[in-house]
Amino acid sequence: MAQLNDNIQYMKGIGEKKAAALRKLGIRTYRDLISFFPRAYEDRRTFYAIADAPAETPVCVKAMVAAPPNAVRARRGMTLVKLRAVDDSGVLDITYFNQAWLKNTLVPGETYIFYGRVGESGRRRTMTNPAFEREDAEGVVTGRILPVYRLTAGISQKVLLTSVRQALDACEAVPDILPDDVRRRYELAQARFSYENIHFPRDDAALDQARQRLVFEELYVLAGAMELLRGRRKDRPGLVLPESSMDGFWRTLPFSPTNAQRRAVDEALADMRSGQPMNRLLQGDVGSGKTLVAAALLWQMARAGYQSAFMAPTEILAEQHCKTLTEMLDPLGVRVVKLTGSMTAAQKRHVNEKLALGEADVAVGTHALLMENVTFRDLGLVVTDEQHRFGVEQRSALTGKGEHPHVLVMSATPIPRTLALIIYGDLDISVLDELPPGRTPVETYAVGEEMRERIWNFVRRLVREGRQVFIVCPMVEENEELPDTVKSAQEYARELQNEVFPDQRVLCVHGKMKAKEKDAAMAAFAAGDADILVATTVIEVGVDIPNAALMIVENADRFGLSQLHQLRGRVGRGKHKSYCVLFSDSKTDTARSRLKIMTQTNDGFLISQEDLRLRGPGDFFGSRQHGLPEMHVADLSADMRVLKQAQQEAQAVLASDPELRRPENEPLRDRIHELFELHEDTFN
Ligand code: ADP
Ligand code: MG
Repeated sequence: MAQLNDNIQYMKGIGEKKAAALRKLGIRTYRDLISFFPRAYEDRRTFYAIADAPAETPVCVKAMVAAPPNAVRARRGMTLVKLRAVDDSGVLDITYFNQAWLKNTLVPGETYIFYGRVGESGRRRTMTNPAFEREDAEGVVTGRILPVYRLTAGISQKVLLTSVRQALDACEAVPDILPDDVRRRYELAQARFSYENIHFPRDDAALDQARQRLVFEELYVLAGAMELLRGRRKDRPGLVLPESSMDGFWRTLPFSPTNAQRRAVDEALADMRSGQPMNRLLQGDVGSGKTLVAAALLWQMARAGYQSAFMAPTEILAEQHCKTLTEMLDPLGVRVVKLTGSMTAAQKRHVNEKLALGEADVAVGTHALLMENVTFRDLGLVVTDEQHRFGVEQRSALTGKGEHPHVLVMSATPIPRTLALIIYGDLDISVLDELPPGRTPVETYAVGEEMRERIWNFVRRLVREGRQVFIVCPMVEENEELPDTVKSAQEYARELQNEVFPDQRVLCVHGKMKAKEKDAAMAAFAAGDADILVATTVIEVGVDIPNAALMIVENADRFGLSQLHQLRGRVGRGKHKSYCVLFSDSKTDTARSRLKIMTQTNDGFLISQEDLRLRGPGDFFGSRQHGLPEMHVADLSADMRVLKQAQQEAQAVLASDPELRRPENEPLRDRIHELFELHEDTFN
């Protein structure tokens, strides 16, 4: 009898070639096979007489081939096989494309079950490329709900179907990782039943039960993994920051910190004094003042004699942070240095020396900080800004430069809290849910082309008043596949300068520029050398240009709401009343209601929730920015309630058995280890 972890290479019907192809689908073991869940199902249970078959949904029709099939050569080398089948009620004309061999497979006078969508052609009923099975075949497919699998070259539905069947039969006892009481509490089906019925459902209800259980199971394993990690991290010794007051820092500020900022700082300090390394996510909407929180911690670290690293995703941001932090910390005796890729070798060497000797307290920089030759004398704290831009690997490369340094990651991408707990599973979370006082919300308008002239006049007026303007377009170069209304930044900038704003200074930044050019252009705009910046989304992340008072987004319907919110966050950062204009000519209701949300609220959390609701998992989950392993059945945005339950249960198990050493927890431990092995980079 096969074990779940056995390789499938020696399974009946699987040779070396097929095994290799299956590996492309991520299938190596029996367990992989039974966990390779169908992407859809075909209901082959409902039979119809030809005359009664409804159009649109695929159905089974039992019919006799009435005459020898006809092979016809059609255009472009295509072969059509046409045949006529009959039952008591009527005639069905069947066509197969490019399956010439069927001509000799379908035998006149024999009865087959055809499965497909019935169409109408004049008064005749038709079917195209139906699946079929002889009436007297052993009925593997007909009469059941049939799984449909994701395929790859060399692997057909049939191969998967029979392999999964074999695997299920061979692994009689699928160990249940869910404790009995948990299963009963949530009325979840047993493991064996669930694996059987997710592939070969007895009926709809069984499929439903199977799915519910497997979703729970998947999230339970994930949550358990995160909890285990969290526990392990807590076991590592972290340097202990001595008690000392924050007053000296707050007093030097030109403003008072918000309550949320104070709270976040206190939470982080408590971590850093606990004896265990801090692992904290600081989440806060654009403009909520995350930098200040980081600065407070950098100051505390420096006072205690430790160094810190502060990593930003772009040169321009690193530049800006360096400036801000120097202004704040230098008067307090904290030595801030900058390390970026564009510095000369000599400059870098100089900074490296200072860091190695402990002659600098804070290193602000880009990925350059990750270089091997960058060493710290005593790295105590690592801060990464806009953390979703960094892979987990990069984060750990930086923490590797110290002995379990404290870690603070900052992010403006608001995600619902339950989800954040899973995604940043091993991180504690602080939220800045309050904006500094005196901010007036950015006034936002969603408009169509008819407003163009008025908006241009508005731009001229603002520029006359000394303000600056962003114009963002979604594309860099002309792209023929997109409608020509999609503005290309370069073209567009030229056009605007020449034809619309001859008296204003127009500058362009786009993603295809070299980092250096991009930074130079951004710096020029920040310095006030231009009035209008035409840009692609490179300006999305935290650049601070307080004098900018208007953000115009072209083809706004092409952006996600959260992205629009980030863009809008580029204005309204100074004392000037600020505006955001979203141009869109899309007439669809969804596009309109999406943009309308932008005009109604400035709350990033609300917006991202709406974004999720309207677009489904959307960008965030689609692009897998979260770095989580791919889910097989669970949908991280839809199965929120289950996620919470699974998490509660996993936490309870780990609280009573932190390393999962009890025999009854062994199956869960195995599954978690498997997950770790598969995703070493995520679970470093
Ligand atoms: P983000 O969270 O988007 O990174 P920043 O840290 O860049 O926000 O802060 C945005 C602006 O708000 C900065 O100009 C900063 O000086 C200012 N700021 C931060 N905290 C306060 C405060 N408590 N009171 C007034 N202004 C503040
Ligand atoms: Mg920021």
